[in-house]
Amino acid sequence: MSLLLRKVRVVSEEGPPSGETDVLVEEGVYRAIAPGLEAPQGAREIDGRGRLLMPAMFDAHVHFREPGGEAKEDIASGSEAAINGGVTGVVMMPNTTPSIDTGSVVKMVLDKAAQVSRIPVHTSGCVSKGREGREMAAIDSMRALGVRMLTDDGDSTGDTSLLLRAMQYASEFGMFFASHCEVPELAGPRALNEGQVSYELGIKGSPACAEEIIIDRDIRLAHAAGAHIHIQHVSTALGMETIRWWKERGDVRVTAEVSPHHLMFIDEDIGDYDTHYKMNPPLRTRADNEALLEALKAGVFDLIATDHAPHTPFEKAQDFTVAPNGITGLETALVSLHDRFVSRGELGWDVVVKRYSAEPRRMMGLEAVPVVEGGTAEFLLFDPAAETTFSRDFMQSKAENTPFLDKTLKGRVDLVALAGEVLLER
Ligand SMILES: [Zn+2]
Repeated sequence: MSLLLRKVRVVSEEGPPSGETDVLVEEGVYRAIAPGLEAPQGAREIDGRGRLLMPAMFDAHVHFREPGGEAKEDIASGSEAAINGGVTGVVMMPNTTPSIDTGSVVKMVLDKAAQVSRIPVHTSGCVSKGREGREMAAIDSMRALGVRMLTDDGDSTGDTSLLLRAMQYASEFGMFFASHCEVPELAGPRALNEGQVSYELGIKGSPACAEEIIIDRDIRLAHAAGAHIHIQHVSTALGMETIRWWKERGDVRVTAEVSPHHLMFIDEDIGDYDTHYKMNPPLRTRADNEALLEALKAGVFDLIATDHAPHTPFEKAQDFTVAPNGITGLETALVSLHDRFVSRGELGWDVVVKRYSAEPRRMMGLEAVPVVEGGTAEFLLFDPAAETTFSRDFMQSKAENTPFLDKTLKGRVDLVALAGEVLLER
């Protein structure tokens, strides 16, 4: 495939988008980047005026529900949802049924992905067997198949001593730990912020401290063990400040992620018990939103990750207290970040590309994919003037549990390419 993109503006993690230029892609590589390029014979030309060319995104926190939850999502539909949102690499979470806690389950997942997915699918593995916090998972056999991230996501690892031992052991082999932070006794059964809204709705909430305590606990354990700890989906301002404090000390390797929904939504959005705003950690307050956005700009957060969590419409139609936690994110993340922040001048494209494309790849030991001559052409074309309506028809995910269902937002992913192939074109 030979593709000549005319008059695009190139986005990098280093600064504002470039002026208009032509970009020639041949055999999956950026062959030339300059204005007024001559079209080689047979090259397909695409008018890129008004559009942005940027590295494709990478999501380090997705739930593809396979094995065991295929009515919600599977690897095939999940990876197509990723492509639909401009994402060309993902890391699956291991809270499947059975859990991804041995080499044989890892192999099953990776073999399936190799058959059905058009993008690379990575998986994390459990810290503890069955995510039960009692016995260590089969870490060696998972490492042998390339697993780098260990997490009991969905829950915190219950046994502190087990987590410390796992950290001491697995860090020697270059593995790292990702923590879902929640004290179960404090969190209670419902994913709802403890505060005015939970009081008005008459449902017991989960206080911010339930998350903040484990953020601090797990960083302290990593500090003691000399491990790399990654804090998942931070939702509270004080939790973020804890991470900032540890980062400033500089004597433990800590990274952290923030999800688009924790930047955009608050507990009040739940309104009349709308389960499309029910996730764990829960939506907090406007002050948390604002603090998290500032922290993203300041580099306290290394990554943006969606925590793409599909459920069936039937499950989400249940009563607020019974419905499962989580919303989908892969298809809406980039467009919603543009609509809410970039188009309003509250966030630069450079931050989006750094935090949702380059840094998650680096955390996983992969190379970033900048748009530079000689570089790997793994990119998307984005039209900031167009719109996207997140209708059932638009979505490739099996699930539709997103607050953006049937809403129209500013911006559209027009084209996604990887390894010399166009995966999506609108
Ligand atoms: Zn989680």
